[in-house]
Amino acid sequence: MNSQNETSSNKRAECAGGRLLDKVAVITGAASGIGKEIALTFAREGARVVIADLDQSAAQQTASAIDPTGKRALGVGMDVTNEEQVESGMARAIEAFGRLDVLVSNAGVQIVAPLVEFEFEKWRKLLSIHLDGAFLTTRTALRQMYRQKSGSIIYMGSVHAKEASPLKAPYVTAKHGLIGLAKVVAKEGAAHGVRANVICPGFVRTPLVEKQIPEQARELGISEADVVKTVMLKETVDGEFTTVQDVAEAALFLAAFPSNALTGQSMVVSHGWFMQ
Ligand code: NAD
Repeated sequence: MNSQNETSSNKRAECAGGRLLDKVAVITGAASGIGKEIALTFAREGARVVIADLDQSAAQQTASAIDPTGKRALGVGMDVTNEEQVESGMARAIEAFGRLDVLVSNAGVQIVAPLVEFEFEKWRKLLSIHLDGAFLTTRTALRQMYRQKSGSIIYMGSVHAKEASPLKAPYVTAKHGLIGLAKVVAKEGAAHGVRANVICPGFVRTPLVEKQIPEQARELGISEADVVKTVMLKETVDGEFTTVQDVAEAALFLAAFPSNALTGQSMVVSHGWFMQ
């Protein structure tokens, strides 16, 4: 974390006001990047958090960093594309903390290649992580939320849920798909007090993006610095990356929102790269 981010994160911690007091949140892909920051932010706001991730040991490490006693944070190994693992991981979370108020369906990967060369297996892998993962975690979450008659589901979309970029066919397809899923959940869930929304971040410097910079430089035949400047941040209003803290603040806002007034929506957090 750079010093500017650290300072703003400290300032936010000082202002934290328990906006998720005693809520229970499951966050997928929370052992790294955006999901991890959401888990830290939710915990700071009083939530009990479940860090669900393919990387079980990193999930457990993140959970113990939040609460070494395990009373307020639990790490669960979960491949979101695996029905049995999702069912059992979510059941463990609900058993541990007794309820489920927020699901953040965040686990994701990026694979870049021109469409004409895209391997079918890689296409399927990406769609499965983003879309099957969102469906499977949503279905299990809804069963519990319907029993409680309340809940908030947040999908991690992207500006690529609204815009396209070359080399990212399955990612753009999957992220557009999440907006459709959120709208259906909003309509079906309303009668049960369940809301669903999508966050659409611009580029955030997480491992997912760090990996893409050299890959895109190779594919496009330009330098890594030019990938950042002329591809990733070109359309922003100020040439800045979005931060994990920016996205976590948006997630907190959606998770803590008190009514069904805000449902079926997508919120773009991108330094103006995409304007609605
Ligand atoms: P990241 O690589 O830092 O973290 C992704 C996490 O997901 C990792 O911990 C990984 O282990 C986990 N994961 C991957 N496959 C999984 C699976 N099958 N089951 C469970 N967990 C799995 O990436 P990030 O940048 O924090 O991305 C998080 C989400 O944000 C993704 O959905 C991504 O598409 C979205 N997003 C990222 C950016 C960005 O610029 N970083 C921008 C917009 C949207």
